[in-house]
Amino acid sequence: MRNHKVGDRVVVASFIGCGRCWYCQNDLWSLCDNTNTNPGIASMAYGYEPGGIFGYSHAMGGFRGSHAEYIRVPFADYSAFPVPPEVDDRSALVVSDSVPTGWMGADLGGVRPGDVVAVWGCGAVGQMAARARRCCSVPRGSSPSTASRNGSR
Ligand SMILES: [Zn+2]
Repeated sequence: MRNHKVGDRVVVASFIGCGRCWYCQNDLWSLCDNTNTNPGIASMAYGYEPGGIFGYSHAMGGFRGSHAEYIRVPFADYSAFPVPPEVDDRSALVVSDSVPTGWMGADLGGVRPGDVVAVWGCGAVGQMAARARRCCSVPRGSSPSTASRNGSR
């Protein structure tokens, strides 16, 4: 590991990328050719071979979840990112998975400003999808239970 040292605060991406394969070189980290140790299982189930993912089954490499106090991070030079000092731990926590997943869901939904969108399931990812609207004017709306907290309609 070259980019980080003991004691650094980092956010670790939920997908594990090697940084060297064609997919990683083209920012398609979730399809990394080298981090899923069981690509055949996922291929049978999904029809393609995703990269390794923290906290999923053996079909995604069998890596333990990232909400533990300590985890082993393969290819940490490519999968871990420094947290700036002005960002507190709680804010940094959601950057590894729920923010990018919610953001991507909003983006893939193709929602335009003024559209009305319902978000089913307002766990961390659903709430981040609803909040993406506030940051980039993409999705609008969420479930009634969290709509007012997130400023959604
Ligand atoms: Zn790769």
